[in-house]
Amino acid sequence: MNLLRRRLLIAAATSVASLWTPLRVRADAREPDLATLRGWISAGIERDSSGAVVRVFGVDQAASDDVFLRATRSDALPDGYAPADLVSAGASGIATAGRQLLRALIVEDTRALIAEAASDGHDLYVGSGFRSQAYQEVVFAAQINRWGDEETANRYSARPGHSHHQLGTTIDFTNTFGAFRRSAAADWLRDNAHRFGFVLPYSVAATNRTGYIDEPWHARWVGQPLAAQLRSANYQDWSTLDADDVIAMVRAEAALDVA
Ligand SMILES: [Zn+2]
Repeated sequence: MNLLRRRLLIAAATSVASLWTPLRVRADAREPDLATLRGWISAGIERDSSGAVVRVFGVDQAASDDVFLRATRSDALPDGYAPADLVSAGASGIATAGRQLLRALIVEDTRALIAEAASDGHDLYVGSGFRSQAYQEVVFAAQINRWGDEETANRYSARPGHSHHQLGTTIDFTNTFGAFRRSAAADWLRDNAHRFGFVLPYSVAATNRTGYIDEPWHARWVGQPLAAQLRSANYQDWSTLDADDVIAMVRAEAALDVA
């Protein structure tokens, strides 16, 4: 391991120590029942006259298989998965911390989100974009060293192969974490991410189900139609389902596993 990478890992391990400040779950959660949810998922899938899927919540069928992949504590991505259209965020004119890769698919929305945040006075940037499975292996080993056991480490970092970041469509919009959590920029991101196609799956209310701490900087792109639908249904405050569950339901309804 070279010195720079070692320094980055130490910095990453140190910054998570200040992450966990429990916040109150808002009391206005109104979660749709399963029938309602199935109804709007079914309505979000466009089919041609033969019934074949054309678009999934605005995402072309060909791209949808990757966009709606499951990546949770219990669902691993296909071993060694990496998207085919990774590009440098910096070279695409997007503010970053260090060298960051993103899927070309989300460059436009990412650039627009950061630009609009900036015009509202908030400093968002790609603190972390794509992470390869090999890189996650190094990070997770460092986290086990820090926390002493795999279970605790797994609350702060995904196991290799289980990270949304391996999709290339997930961005941490800061690397200040604890400071960001209490900032107006976090409120802005929560209120606006959906307009650019992003959901923030790791909310306070979802902590017990996702298994990860509240991460208001962690945004996964699913396209504007689904993100807006989830936002209007207050998905961050739901008590039995989370955004990853909805992604799994979309995947099943569009039969992406058998495509
Ligand atoms: Zn993240």
